[in-house]
Amino acid sequence: MAGNKNDSYSIKLDKTRLTLSSAMDAFHPDIVLASSFSLEDVVLMDMISKIRTDARVFAIDTGRLNEETYQCAELVRAVTGLKIEWYFPKFEDVEGLENDKGLFSFRNSLDARHECCQIRKVEPLSRALKGQKAWITGLRKAQNVTREDLAYVEIDHAHQGITKINPLLDWDDRDLKRYIEENKVPYSTLYDKGYTSIGCAPCTKATEPGEHPRAGRWWWESAEQKECGLHVDFFIQKGPSEEQ
Ligand code: SF4
Repeated sequence: MAGNKNDSYSIKLDKTRLTLSSAMDAFHPDIVLASSFSLEDVVLMDMISKIRTDARVFAIDTGRLNEETYQCAELVRAVTGLKIEWYFPKFEDVEGLENDKGLFSFRNSLDARHECCQIRKVEPLSRALKGQKAWITGLRKAQNVTREDLAYVEIDHAHQGITKINPLLDWDDRDLKRYIEENKVPYSTLYDKGYTSIGCAPCTKATEPGEHPRAGRWWWESAEQKECGLHVDFFIQKGPSEEQ
């Protein structure tokens, strides 16, 4: 149901669309959306596809994603018409990790988990962002109290000082659900199974009502350890945080 254009959702929607269209005009073709097919990312994919049909999206296939994530990726690709640029970890690094340390080394220690995230996520992200002038993320303040100072536009010192755009920073869960319903955007069925945040299959589980939305990510670690380097600059500036 469409709302009053002066209600809080409509104001946020207008601001997000303006931020996206301005950024895409300013940086095209060297601007990319990083998608993990979270609720935030499918909303952003829908929005950018309505601004430019040739908008660029990349995703990282860590090799450990849920089947539901792949199914969601294909549905969103079909509905939006966007081409998804997939990045994979370097095969020799994954082979070395798994041959030396087994398939679940990330459960052994924080360092071991960071090693896996570095190989499967951070290194491919660096390649995906190489040569870009800007990237778009689905980061939101509501995901973590340490994101209170998150800005619509930031300089990402962790990635060659490129511009980082966070157009959903003020959105809450209801805003996301409303946009998805009104625009019939496909989303991962894991959200219907109690998941509130989605990452790699062995490192994510459903949460209980009342738990922090990210309690299902690396649940065996303490809350302040839950980052893996995708948003390193934010981590350095604000202290322990979380990645998408
Ligand atoms: Fe490895 Fe888990 Fe990090 Fe995925 S989330 S890269 S499986 S440690």
